Amino acid sequence: MRLKSMKRRTLQKETIKQIFQQLDQPLGIEQILCKGREKVPALNRATVYRNIRLYVEEGLLLKINHPALGTLYERAGRGHHHHFYCRICDQVFELPGCALKETNVTPKGFFAESHEVFVSGVCSSCSTRDFSSITNTDHENPPA
Ligand SMILES: [Zn+2]
Ligand SMILES: [Zn+2]
Repeated sequence: MRLKSMKRRTLQKETIKQIFQQLDQPLGIEQILCKGREKVPALNRATVYRNIRLYVEEGLLLKINHPALGTLYERAGRGHHHHFYCRICDQVFELPGCALKETNVTPKGFFAESHEVFVSGVCSSCSTRDFSSITNTDHENPPA
């Protein structure tokens, strides 16, 4: 019996790891739970939390505090980068690299040590899939 439950635990932990490898984007607990249940239907929120915490401790995942979505997790070791939030599909994408020069935004005498930038808008798949929802957001009569 003990062996069986150990196997199950390993499977759940591995499943969570695979989600991050496959999707390769920052994810919230609800998204992880939803994707994980496609593979392991018995997966529950407490298990997701426990394994995510373990992965953060092991240095495999990083925690992000997103202004629009709250706590998200992403794979560690990707170098300095920022995030793009799509307001249509509610997903967060990684923006590789950084265009911000800290010396351009800090006044004389200030020495910046770190920064965070969150970009929001509409992602490429949403902008090609449903252009009307972008242009007609403040119309009085939305298209039927
Ligand atoms: Zn989108
Ligand atoms: Zn940056």
